[in-house]
Amino acid sequence: MTSIPALPYGVTNKKARRASPTPLAFARLAAFPGTRVLAWVVDECPYCGARHFHSTGGAKEDPKDRLVEVKAPCQEAGEYVLAEPPKQRKGNRQAKRKQERRQAKSTPLDDDDDW
Ligand SMILES: [Zn+2]
Repeated sequence: MTSIPALPYGVTNKKARRASPTPLAFARLAAFPGTRVLAWVVDECPYCGARHFHSTGGAKEDPKDRLVEVKAPCQEAGEYVLAEPPKQRKGNRQAKRKQERRQAKSTPLDDDDDW
């Protein structure tokens, strides 16, 4: 069932976003300031750009169980979905290392060294 309104000109829908309009908020595990209590820290709120803290639940709970839709503290009525930021791909790091090695060697014709 497609009830997606027409996209504004220039906006492509390549990724076919999920039906839910709830924005993602990337969160990392860190202690609440001044405590040792773990929290999910949203460094950049999708609404206000500020930092927000969310409970990770009890000590016996898996913090990842709290990576769900939560209420944005800065919004009267607004939620976002807590999510872990995408991990850097191994391939990228290898490619970067390769590049560094290549620069260190400073030999211009090193392109067949492809492993
Ligand atoms: Zn906010």
